[in-house]
Amino acid sequence: MSKGTPSKGKRNKQNHIACRRCGSISFHLRHKICSKCGFGRSSRMRAFDWMSKRSKVPTH
Ligand SMILES: [Zn+2]
Repeated sequence: MSKGTPSKGKRNKQNHIACRRCGSISFHLRHKICSKCGFGRSSRMRAFDWMSKRSKVPTH
């Protein structure tokens, strides 16, 4: 496996399609789970503290 031009030939398959909930190309076809919003895994939106730009508690 190389990182250069030869490996680009395997880019004919896509695992992620447009998510019905968030609209981004993050819904995995085989996993049936959106990697961005968590659609298919839980009814709640996937959200973490590190996503927000302004966190309430400064870490430093
Ligand atoms: Zn989604």
